[in-house]
Amino acid sequence: MSPALPLRRSLRRFASGALSTLLAFAAMEASGACMVSTDAVMRAYDRQVGRDPAAVVSEISTRLTSGQDTDPLQRAALYGVLAEAYASLERYAETREAANKGLALVSDPLNPVYVNLLHYGASNSFDEETRPLAFSQTQAALDVQPAGSSAQACLLTALGILEHFSGRTDQASIYLTRAYRMSEGDERAPQRIIAAEVLSIVMRDLHDFSQALALNKEVIGWYEQNAPFRIAVAHFMRGAIFREIGSHAEALKELEISRELGVEANDAMGIAYADQLMCASNVDLGALAVARRQCGNALRTFTEAGSIDPRKKVLTNLAEIDLLEHTPAAALARLNQVLDQQGRDIAPFRLAKVYELRAQANTQLGHADAALADYQAYMDRYKTSTDAERAREAAALRARFETDREIERNAFLQRELQSKNEKLQAQSARLRWMIVSGLAGTAVIALLTYLLVTAKRKRALLAQLAQQDDLTALPNRRRTLQLATEAFDVTRAYRQPLTIGILDLDHFKQINDRFGHATGDFVLQEFSRIGREVIRETDVLGRWGGEEFLIVLPNTTLDVALGIVDRIREASTRIKGAAATVELKVSLSAGLATNEGDPVRLEEIIASADTALYEAKKSGRDVVRVSQESYDVASTGIRKRLRHAGIDLKTGSHRKT
Ligand code: GH3
Ligand code: MG
Ligand code: MG
Repeated sequence: MSPALPLRRSLRRFASGALSTLLAFAAMEASGACMVSTDAVMRAYDRQVGRDPAAVVSEISTRLTSGQDTDPLQRAALYGVLAEAYASLERYAETREAANKGLALVSDPLNPVYVNLLHYGASNSFDEETRPLAFSQTQAALDVQPAGSSAQACLLTALGILEHFSGRTDQASIYLTRAYRMSEGDERAPQRIIAAEVLSIVMRDLHDFSQALALNKEVIGWYEQNAPFRIAVAHFMRGAIFREIGSHAEALKELEISRELGVEANDAMGIAYADQLMCASNVDLGALAVARRQCGNALRTFTEAGSIDPRKKVLTNLAEIDLLEHTPAAALARLNQVLDQQGRDIAPFRLAKVYELRAQANTQLGHADAALADYQAYMDRYKTSTDAERAREAAALRARFETDREIERNAFLQRELQSKNEKLQAQSARLRWMIVSGLAGTAVIALLTYLLVTAKRKRALLAQLAQQDDLTALPNRRRTLQLATEAFDVTRAYRQPLTIGILDLDHFKQINDRFGHATGDFVLQEFSRIGREVIRETDVLGRWGGEEFLIVLPNTTLDVALGIVDRIREASTRIKGAAATVELKVSLSAGLATNEGDPVRLEEIIASADTALYEAKKSGRDVVRVSQESYDVASTGIRKRLRHAGIDLKTGSHRKT
């Protein structure tokens, strides 16, 4: 094998699906040094690991045994580099061993060397024996780090990785999101990129594909500037996300880039991983001849390298091609190889597919009993893997709701999940009955296909629901913040004004109290409908909390924003309930703020809008107020137009109508 480049290639093993792969089969390479060393020699080693990890292993090993370094800290740092080099070579046991030897030499958890060693250890502790120790060491070190430090970000990422390995994707997303969010600014880029890389995978597993792609894009952008040799895997991961969404053309484009980079770097494994996934996509597209060639290439490399799991994956792809080309005997031979350990060495979620294919092969060959047994095995596995997936989705959604405090929607989604579950059970019962009554064959295959399609649809539905408020169908708080961030980035890049408003219905509690909760809900829905009608295509109106809404107006100055929000305010006063509620009087207060003049952060604009809203409430409600800061920095022309619209120069307040 050619000298491998540390393309974080083991990240690639994540690519082919569900989290359960991680538990027994996937590994994640230590992601480079999380804390960048101040020592020039160490930084040079770090870069060399990027080019030739095998050379680094032999050089550092020799240096460590020669005894030339006596300072324990220096030796610990060298063990850190050694760990990184081993991880690049996918030698995980040795990675952990090096990390542990290093950890034995340094006891101060505030030392960056210690943090790095923990990070390497955790990133490579994907089996159940090594994970508990990594957990407790990381947690203990995390507890003593200064709040907001880069060490804290590194250790949160390490915890996120460990949670991911443990199958707790929801908890992983919380740690990783924290690590990502706290790593703002150029000097924190290394920590942010490491967090983003893992978070992208976690988001993909949670079927939040837009998030996964956005994070992946950030990773690619950064590597392009700072570490081009790491970029192949990022493109590979992007291809895997596109494939999961069903965008095969995009997937193939990304995988082709990854493959070419692999060729340039002489990285045989990288090429094989790209070939395998391209093969799988081409099977889905029906381009069987191309697929067969790509899978053939990958099979050769994985066989030579002794990589069992990827090899079995490719054999499964090839069997699928055999079946599509009506050579069931060839398919059966391959699938028997895949199942030579009775499936013990295969990721559980992938096993269902293997039995399904073998059942088809046996059916085509007329082996009725064997086919029946395989279908039964398929159904059992299918049920297990979808149960696990459902549990994971539910847990992940719950975690998000807790962070977003969207408890009501949680209940709704639980009902969704439950009814899907009931449907699936009914379908399984029907399938069993068909198998028992000897009708296995085309009808069963059709039904199985149907089951798979509905499972896919359900996932898409869940992904959509996780972004949307179910009472008003507006983007929920989380999604709104995401859209606001996008708008903020775009407008900043184009130096356009961005105005943000917070709108809060007045005395809403009284509406609930006097007319009932149903009327309250109705008012919220009507308000949302009106709001959607008034805003432009490029604007965003989202539910920010109970009766509070956030409006995002890109490329919009304060005066124009005032007009838009005031139109919503005016239209809302006309909301009428049922006959019995003719006395219903709806009004709202709003606060507006803008980024004009200063490149302030999004959070600051939202906070200013919130202050202005508070002022609006204080001054008697049913008004729109402009934040004093935004008013102060507005141009003379805008101020003039604001005055013209009735904004009082001294108070920044809009006159009541
Ligand atoms: P203010 O003018 O100061 O904003 O007074 P308020 O009563 O509108 O504000 P407060 O925050 O005290 O009360 C908000 C109320 O909105 C309380 C809560 O029960 C109600 N609410 C929040 N979400 C919903 C919902 O989804 N449906 C209904 N019907 N009511 C809701
Ligand atoms: Mg209110
Ligand atoms: Mg409120």
